[in-house]
Amino acid sequence: MRNGHLPIFIKTHGQPCLVIGGGDVALRKIRTLLKAQANVSVVAPQLCEGLRELVVQDKIQYLQESFTDDDISDFRLVIAATNDEELNKRISRLAQARNIPVNVVDNPELCTFIMPSVIDRAPVQIAISTGGHSPVLARLLRARLETLIPSSYGRLAKLMGEFREKARQKFPDFHDRRHFWESILQGPVAEMLFSGQEQAARKQLEETFQRETARKPTIGDVALIGCGPGDPDLLTFRALRLMQQADVILYDRLIPERIIDLARKDAERIYVGKKRSQHTLPQEGINELMVRLAKEGKRVVRLKGGDPFIFGRGGEEIETLAAQGVPFQVVPGITAASGCASYAGIPLTHRNYAQSCIFITGHLKDGSIDLDWEALARENQTIVIYMGLLGLRMICEQLIAHGLRHSMPAALIERGTTSEQKILIGNLETLPDLAEKRKITPPTLIIIGEVVTLHQKLNWFHPDQNKSI
Ligand code: SAH
Repeated sequence: MRNGHLPIFIKTHGQPCLVIGGGDVALRKIRTLLKAQANVSVVAPQLCEGLRELVVQDKIQYLQESFTDDDISDFRLVIAATNDEELNKRISRLAQARNIPVNVVDNPELCTFIMPSVIDRAPVQIAISTGGHSPVLARLLRARLETLIPSSYGRLAKLMGEFREKARQKFPDFHDRRHFWESILQGPVAEMLFSGQEQAARKQLEETFQRETARKPTIGDVALIGCGPGDPDLLTFRALRLMQQADVILYDRLIPERIIDLARKDAERIYVGKKRSQHTLPQEGINELMVRLAKEGKRVVRLKGGDPFIFGRGGEEIETLAAQGVPFQVVPGITAASGCASYAGIPLTHRNYAQSCIFITGHLKDGSIDLDWEALARENQTIVIYMGLLGLRMICEQLIAHGLRHSMPAALIERGTTSEQKILIGNLETLPDLAEKRKITPPTLIIIGEVVTLHQKLNWFHPDQNKSI
């Protein structure tokens, strides 16, 4: 979802800022501005005690009691915190006419900027906004993050800042510099600082500078990462970490934009997707591309839907890498069967209904599906079919022909785990017709077996169409 607000940090150091209003709300805003080292003036008929104190301490200027139109001309930023709606509107209009950023407390309509909830680990600042929808939610999120992010991150950033120029000179190449900082931030220097040994950390950093020379790694590496079936929350920690260190990201059609957005912002992104029988890059091309990029010294991440080793051609992709001596690793992901089954409330195995589960591909080759029907048409077994929509009718007919009853429950899950998830429930006889009658958007997964009946009882995921998860 796009939200129409660009998060930016405005330089306020020494800048004249005006607050209109003399109550507690104004006081809170003024404290925020003072923390940001702004030069604050206030206009209000009366000042609350906190504000009076700030005036006495000479931390803010008290201009006058009532607001006049000319008051705002000399300011870089205006905040209206009065309870006079007409006055708030007037201030907003005047500021906008002069292109001065204006915030009217609790009235997003009148604002040209909104103020986020801030986690302050100066110089590190994390700002949270809900686009004005729920300041309370922003505050709750802030409370969570406050406990997660140690205060020492501020000290770490300061220390890095001291060495920034030096690093620029020592490692003129951007990649070298990034590798250097990454090794510092994930190594003993950071650990020393977190444990309160600031002097030791500085000394260690100095020494590391003396030792390190700008040497480019001769060869990069490739991570084949399973991204799960769609919900970004289903990524593994390792997947996320590698995505944030990558120089190049290769992705295809099954990877949602929200997952790609989690990768390092300045990583190069290459689409290597293919639609059914319309290959953008043939498989050989992708493999060679990965080898070339890694040999250029890049850290390559290849994002795969679900799990790379389940109907994902992961094996083929790394064969080339292995043959060419390119270091690689495979990060498992949640395969569509697990993700869709969980989010549809259909356990794939169950003591009473299924003691085994079998994953098959329903992909047609020359118009027919070549499967071991005898082995599939068994009781007490769950069948999960990947890429099975086109062959659905044929699969159901074959299973019936080989002995499964017509009424064997079957489910079709469309875009499982995402906010667009839809589920069709039927049986071997009815499902093909049900699917044909509806417009179905891929990807879809089919589950056949007694366990499907549990959906009615166990369904827990009800995505709201208006929201993305
Ligand atoms: N490696 C992947 C599978 C790739 S084959 C994995 O482990 O999941 C692509 C097929 O996976 C699709 O045709 C569809 O059958 C299934 N699939 C992937 N994501 C899905 C989703 N979100 N919902 C339903 N089916 C999905």
